Amino acid sequence: MGYGYGYYGGDMGYWLIVIVSLVLGALTQGYIKRMYAKWSKVPARIQGTGAEVARRMLDEEGASAVGITHVAGTLTDFYDPRDNKLHLSPANYGQASVASVAVACHEAGHAVQTAQGYGPIKIRTALVPAVNFASQSWMILFFLGVFMNLAGLMRLAVWIFAITVIFQLVTLPVEIDASRRAVAYLGANGQGLDQKGAKQVLTAAALTYVAAALVSILQLLYYANATRNRD
Ligand SMILES: [Zn+2]
Repeated sequence: MGYGYGYYGGDMGYWLIVIVSLVLGALTQGYIKRMYAKWSKVPARIQGTGAEVARRMLDEEGASAVGITHVAGTLTDFYDPRDNKLHLSPANYGQASVASVAVACHEAGHAVQTAQGYGPIKIRTALVPAVNFASQSWMILFFLGVFMNLAGLMRLAVWIFAITVIFQLVTLPVEIDASRRAVAYLGANGQGLDQKGAKQVLTAAALTYVAAALVSILQLLYYANATRNRD
């Protein structure tokens, strides 16, 4: 992500980004943890565990081919379009709290997006191979450019880094839409309390993505500016 290379970025702008990143990261991580803990204690009004509620949502919203499996950890949940399965963490799979059904339905929301051909998730999925390449290679190319004093190589590296920033920006509507689908489903099938809790948990989760995108934009501006100064 651009940290740990203090020998290049020793200036004010660099450290400002590091501090903003750490502060935003701590704030958003702390907030999601608090909201998740709060609503993990509240039993959902809707019937069933996270996995059971997600199963019904998938079946009712045209994604019945999607499977549900486990993944280790806490809040490690994701939908994988490659195996077409929701991977739910133990708590969200097996518990019937507002937090569990909210996260499970959010992941179901991603599967429904895919099943319905929602545009932004198509773009996001298509970008994955490029992003994997970009995130592994941009920094190597950038510092090669610095050491070999090749502004062209630095510029190329910044353009490659821009792919990861675009990816994070495309992620935002995908995440917000999945949460909107989860909140709508819980609102229609549970009660107001489920909907309120889901909104709080999923808004907190969305803020972590917003913070990450913001930091990436700052980094992009920083490295673009560092490159311009070399020209
Ligand atoms: Zn998501």
